[in-house]
Amino acid sequence: MSNRRNFLKYSGLAAGSLILPVSVSGIETNATNKKKSGKPASMKLRFRPYDLQLNHVFTIANSSRTTTPVMLTEIEYDGLIGYGEASMPPYLGESQKTAAEFLSKVDLSSFSDPFELEDIIAYIDSLAIGNHAAKASVDIALHDLVGKIVQQPWHKLWGLNRTKTPNTSFTIGIDTPEVVKVKVREADIYKILKVKLGRENDKEMIKTIRSVTDKPICVDVNQGWKDKQMALDMIQWLATQGVVFVEQPMSKLAVDDIAWLTENSPLPIIGDEAVQTISDVAAASKIYSGINIKLMKCGGMRNAWKMANLAKALGMKVMIGCMTETSCAISAAAQLSPMTDWADLDGNLLIGNDIYEGTKVVNGKITLSDLPGIGIRLK
Ligand code: MG
Repeated sequence: MSNRRNFLKYSGLAAGSLILPVSVSGIETNATNKKKSGKPASMKLRFRPYDLQLNHVFTIANSSRTTTPVMLTEIEYDGLIGYGEASMPPYLGESQKTAAEFLSKVDLSSFSDPFELEDIIAYIDSLAIGNHAAKASVDIALHDLVGKIVQQPWHKLWGLNRTKTPNTSFTIGIDTPEVVKVKVREADIYKILKVKLGRENDKEMIKTIRSVTDKPICVDVNQGWKDKQMALDMIQWLATQGVVFVEQPMSKLAVDDIAWLTENSPLPIIGDEAVQTISDVAAASKIYSGINIKLMKCGGMRNAWKMANLAKALGMKVMIGCMTETSCAISAAAQLSPMTDWADLDGNLLIGNDIYEGTKVVNGKITLSDLPGIGIRLK
């Protein structure tokens, strides 16, 4: 262990989030960013493409797929490695090629201190517009590294109570009634189910699930409803069916219609497609009851943390969601989950070739460990 890490460990500075800035300056003044060799330590970013194998064919409007491309990143610093990941489902516009192009531009050599998250992330963000998943992969690796330096998981550094993690929802795909019933029974350990609506058979889908279980249901319409009165009628019916909230009921562009829905709806209306980054939150607070934060949309853990705090300050509900991801990005998102109202972190449960182990779902509840950083290890 380096002198610097010993310093943090034994000085007690590693213990809590409130003193983190102090401990950062403490590193600078009481120890140096020098390796034992005397050379300054520097951060090295590595990345490699990886294809996630889905356990079941994933079908959206016009296409089906059995894999999701991701980019796995690592930042090495002073003998420690922080892990990160970019997940890039094709409909969002990023790819392993665009991520490789972006990550090739990243040069962390001018930063000698990984704790300067604000500066490093501003630099990453300045390299190109967009590329949110690629940016998230650096941000997550950086957070993992910093957590490992101070030997604490991020939920602790953020001051969150790990017993307050929510249950994660588990998505039941649209299918024939017989298959839906089988899927619901297979999802036995999950306490909340998530259903994608926005088609002709919305009521049939809910009735089918209700024929086999009383569990609460979250509904995601993915902008599918076109008429606000029809949407309100449907939400009023869903409220009688044990539905908890409705995500992105209409097009993100139908701002006035959604604001009207939120005002009249008996259920919370959550913005997902409409809320990408922190700059969308203030406007969303006038339209939605809450927001769905995803690391791959907002550029990583630091922005997700800021978004969650801003949304709460504005009186909004907060949900944390995901793409199809390994336990790396899922565990990173899970660190934030104790401060959210709802979590939809089932992405790693849908793949067969996860190379990490991290956050577990125990009896439906997200369960954080004491592992430092984002709380993962290689399988
Ligand atoms: Mg959604």
